[in-house]
Amino acid sequence: MPSSTPTHLFLAGQWREASGGKTFTDINPANEQPLTEIAAASAADVDQAVRAARAQLSGEWAAMPGAERGRILARVADLIERDASLLATLEALDVGKPVTQAAQLDIPNAAATFRHFAGWADKITGSVIPTAGHMGQPTHSYTVREPVGVIGAIVPWNTPLMIAGWKLAPALAAGNTVVVKPPEDAPLSILHLAKLLEEAGLPPGVVSVLPGFGATAGEALVTHTGVDKISFTGSPRVGRMIATRAAESFKSTTLELGGKSPQIILPDADLEAAINGTAMGLFFNQGEICAAGTRVLVHTSLYEQVVEGLSDAAAAQVLGDPFDPATTMGALISAKHRETVLGYIEAGRNDGARVACGGAAPEGAGYFVQPTVFANATNDMKIAREEIFGPVGTVIPFDTAEEAIALANATQYGLAATIWTRDVSRAHSLARKVQAGAVWVNGWGAINPALPWGGLKASGTGRELGWAGIEANTEEKSITIVL
Ligand code: NAD
Repeated sequence: MPSSTPTHLFLAGQWREASGGKTFTDINPANEQPLTEIAAASAADVDQAVRAARAQLSGEWAAMPGAERGRILARVADLIERDASLLATLEALDVGKPVTQAAQLDIPNAAATFRHFAGWADKITGSVIPTAGHMGQPTHSYTVREPVGVIGAIVPWNTPLMIAGWKLAPALAAGNTVVVKPPEDAPLSILHLAKLLEEAGLPPGVVSVLPGFGATAGEALVTHTGVDKISFTGSPRVGRMIATRAAESFKSTTLELGGKSPQIILPDADLEAAINGTAMGLFFNQGEICAAGTRVLVHTSLYEQVVEGLSDAAAAQVLGDPFDPATTMGALISAKHRETVLGYIEAGRNDGARVACGGAAPEGAGYFVQPTVFANATNDMKIAREEIFGPVGTVIPFDTAEEAIALANATQYGLAATIWTRDVSRAHSLARKVQAGAVWVNGWGAINPALPWGGLKASGTGRELGWAGIEANTEEKSITIVL
């Protein structure tokens, strides 16, 4: 591990041990070896960070003009780009993903997000609204957008730097302060980001980064009365718990949860592109992606060809050392998570689906699972209903576009969907019918910081990114002058 990587809390502008001195061991999932010991924040540490964040809401940060906040965010984007190779290394070591994929997605997306929101920081406006007067007097009414306050940002382990950027950049652009709880399974890249925030000139206390466990540091953040909002990305189970706890102190929440996203392949699709793109939606980041397109809905005329094509794509994946340039798929995050994924594969077999490719864990060190394709599956099987969060796809046939939409929507989730077709008119009309926060046509995973991101149903509530990300990080106040 690079020796410069911080392992302490970044609390109110200082690098410190956790109060009480607790630490936890960070493991490299690709070889099961310990990477380092990381400070584990306590409730007392969270309290100090929240106090420092609150103080900045009437301090140097609150007085800073939007253009200057934007300058700092742009500097953060530059620094992420300067340290791109180090950050990709940390992501690969900590998450087990191929370093090439971290360099292709996680790091550039994080930089692009800070750069996008740097541009918003001095353009957050309200509006002037015509009003009918008050008790016979004319009125002049307008709105202003003000920061929500202290935001608690809770981040998962699959793309930690990128998701931390999705929470920090819009929150800071809008003038909030943030206490970040990185994932206990992969805290390194966010700790390095804290160094970059410091170097970029962010005043002390505006952001604290407190690695630690969900049940201690996370819980302390969710229940702290000095926190105004929780921005959470993670599992629906924890998301539900957080929404309930946050409601007790009337905190608002943004919840970005899981998915079971459909990829619909229509009979007129460019088949080669559809198979390649669908395979990417299944296997990128070991399938540990909330938007993974794990329900592959295929027109019956193409069904066998798609099963064969996806099986070939699965067989062509190279599992191994995340730092070998030939590697295309890394390890899952932990032994426990590998057991969960293998349990789903077993359930698929027991329910009568056919394993067309993969279906096991390779021998040797590292929490690897073979990329797996299920055929002869139905939408009501467990493997089609529940999020697996591993490299496992389920291919389901349909006869008509209406049936495809009905299958696509027959899920508790609603995060993303992909449609493969050459018919532009059909693409637009079907995109409107899919219940999902994002729909991609002829390309899986076209995420962009300018576009809103978030889900429906069990995929969560609220939006991040784009102007929606500014709205989610501001309160709109109306002001009326009785003239
Ligand atoms: P998780 O819910 O187990 O943990 C997420 C974070 O919540 C971690 O930092 C954890 O420490 C914290 N946490 C756990 N218990 C807590 C508690 N009681 N109070 C406060 N914080 C607590 O999820 P995970 O396993 O890290 O991530 C995988 C999940 O995240 C999947 O379901 C995936 O789909 C989802 N995800 C969603 C998106 C999205 O944008 N919608 C993106 C990435 C991941």
